[in-house]
Amino acid sequence: MINIPKGTKDVLPDESYKWQYIENTAREVARVFNLSEIRTPVFEYTELFRRGVGEGTDVVNKEMYTFEDKGGRSITLKPEGTAGVVRLFIENGLASSPMPVKTYYITPAFRYERPQAGRLREFHQFGIEVFGSASYQTDAEVIFAASTFLDMLGVKTQLQINSIGCKTCRAEYNRALKEYFKPRLVGMCETCRLRFDKNPLRMLDCKEEGCKKINAGAPNITDFLCEECAEHFNGVKSLLDGYGKKYTVNPRIVRGLDYYSKTVFEFVSDEIGSQGTVCGGGRYDGLVEELGGNPTPAIGFAAGIERLMLLMENSSAPFPEADKPAIYLAGMDEISRAAAFKIATDLRLKGVRAEIDHMGRSVKAQLKYADKIGAKFAAVIGEDELKSKVLNVKNMADGTACAVKVENLYAYLLQEKK
Ligand code: ATP
Ligand code: MG
Repeated sequence: MINIPKGTKDVLPDESYKWQYIENTAREVARVFNLSEIRTPVFEYTELFRRGVGEGTDVVNKEMYTFEDKGGRSITLKPEGTAGVVRLFIENGLASSPMPVKTYYITPAFRYERPQAGRLREFHQFGIEVFGSASYQTDAEVIFAASTFLDMLGVKTQLQINSIGCKTCRAEYNRALKEYFKPRLVGMCETCRLRFDKNPLRMLDCKEEGCKKINAGAPNITDFLCEECAEHFNGVKSLLDGYGKKYTVNPRIVRGLDYYSKTVFEFVSDEIGSQGTVCGGGRYDGLVEELGGNPTPAIGFAAGIERLMLLMENSSAPFPEADKPAIYLAGMDEISRAAAFKIATDLRLKGVRAEIDHMGRSVKAQLKYADKIGAKFAAVIGEDELKSKVLNVKNMADGTACAVKVENLYAYLLQEKK
């Protein structure tokens, strides 16, 4: 017996409807926000993520699934969605289409992490990326797309926002951070000591208790924003306020990836343990250029579907009921089974979920099975029915029955569905 790889999960027949529900909701959000789906390969050249996600990140340093293919190229399974989307944007010349370019994706992602609740090695993301607009209005729209998604699913989260400024304000902030951290470095973890030189901002992202305590006293980026960045941030907040969307400004949100600038945000829950961030995003105005395109402002988010699933299951947010067969057609002998087969085939062609016997069961056992799989109606086909072409259609929930001509069966089921 060979087991499933550590940190991955199967989706079983009786839970896949939950996945479909979340994915369909994502597609519905994308529709109302006028976003078009794009799909990128599961693997890309490693260099794309090194440059796109950033050398200083945990994702690139520790978490990537990288291997050499038979042609000797270094390949990496996508650890996130954005880098591939940006490559797609550049490579396909989308920069010359009318702006903004508004996209979304649903994708698996792969990270070599220590598996625990809400942290897997293969997980799934719903993400959106919008290119071409530098306006704060777009930041607000992307935030609202995420919150609409979470609202539609009926989950409760807290929105936290921050601005990490642009290169100009961050340079000054980094100096202030270094000044603050320098005398405190001895009490901090090894990763933070490395980050001190490379990218002190990232130290604020540390989850070690000792570092978190020291971080609490560090200067806030929001006090260092240049005029343009401060105005941009105020614009985002004013649109959130104007709609009455509740949020908190959390100056400790810096996000795990290197390419962010200005607005960053997270939707956080305290109901699913320490992996509480279900959705994270932000503006990445420098990334398109970094990956070889013309400078293009952009902003996006990614929501982790497994964490959402946990949250929905924990908080008993309502999943709709799974779709069940509308009718089960039972046969007795070869001829009536063939009739059941034909009727089911006709119904299926018209879009009706119909089921028949595959196991050679007795009529009694077939009806028991029909009940077990939640069929709404069942009809037994015997000699009489073959002759009269009228079925006795039984409502499985209340036991009542109705005589329905075979030719009217579709219309009957349609009407009963309402
Ligand atoms: P975390 O701080 O939890 O490690 P992150 O900053 O690495 O998250 P992002 O790269 O922003 O996460 O990914 C966006 C979303 O994808 C996260 O908010 C989360 O919901 C989900 N996610 C990230 N890593 C994993 C994982 N290993 N397993 C399951 N979901 C994940
Ligand atoms: Mg992570």
